[in-house]
Amino acid sequence: MVWILTINVYLSPLIEDLKFLWDQGVEVFDAYEKVNFNLSALLFCTINDFPAYENLSGYSVKRHNVCSICEENTSYHQLKHGRKTSYIGNQRFLKCNHPYCRLKKSFNGSYEDKVAPPPLTSEAVYNRVCKVNVAFGKIQKKNIVKNIWKKKFIFFELPYWSKCDVRHCIGVMHVKKNVYDNIIDMLLNIKGKTKDAINARKNLVKMGILLELQPQPHSKWIYLPPACHTLSKFEKLSFCDCKTINTNWLTFETDNPNQPSILSIVGMGGLGKTTLAQHVYNDLKIDYAKFDIKDWVYVFYHFHVLTVTKIILEAILIKMMIVGT
Ligand SMILES: [Zn+2]
Repeated sequence: MVWILTINVYLSPLIEDLKFLWDQGVEVFDAYEKVNFNLSALLFCTINDFPAYENLSGYSVKRHNVCSICEENTSYHQLKHGRKTSYIGNQRFLKCNHPYCRLKKSFNGSYEDKVAPPPLTSEAVYNRVCKVNVAFGKIQKKNIVKNIWKKKFIFFELPYWSKCDVRHCIGVMHVKKNVYDNIIDMLLNIKGKTKDAINARKNLVKMGILLELQPQPHSKWIYLPPACHTLSKFEKLSFCDCKTINTNWLTFETDNPNQPSILSIVGMGGLGKTTLAQHVYNDLKIDYAKFDIKDWVYVFYHFHVLTVTKIILEAILIKMMIVGT
């Protein structure tokens, strides 16, 4: 809470520089044209995760009204079991003929007929924050008036900031990681992390939806019926064991023309794609499989089909000479 208010103080030197770059600019040298020119700069937008969005925009994302577009009309539901808040009714942001708008059963059991509010214009946001009193430095919590717009952020001192309609962007990287983590935790049913636990099922009973997934109490234990995403033990093992999948694909004898002849391993840097490929390559099963020859070829940064083909053919030739066939 205190940090939110002091960040304006920490950022003030940056704002001074940005104001100078916008109003006057600085003279810099263009090494290509060999001339001096005046360089101006503006802050276009910020890229951050959702908690940082609160710090940078001045909008409170901690209580129930977390959506800065819906504000006080944010549609939320306080879950009884687990005491979490769920945000519902987001189908209103879809087109009115979107199939999801008719899916009553898959959501909270009711049709969403509300219309999405228009996004706040930059002037509207400025009008909301311009009257908020900002107290710099460390102050007591009791002095802060509860308001969803908590402060006028120092970026509004930039002459153009109140004219920019998109000032804050949520980084895809953070969203992707959170969504990915939650899906994996739920698929693998990791205890303590999965969202599909007993409390979630009890909330279904409370809300009177998805009868087939509601917990069924037996004498000493409670049975949680499997959902469409529930994996068996074998499926979970297969999910984790990419090596088995790759090896089986390579060693599987079939005349099916629909089976792909190339298997791509894709993913972010550092995930272990090369390690996985190396494990499969060194697997003894590959040696006894249908291949006459196997080789490991590197593809360089400047990718060229002809060069790669030449490298592969040369590698095969060397192997054949070694084997003597
Ligand atoms: Zn909203």
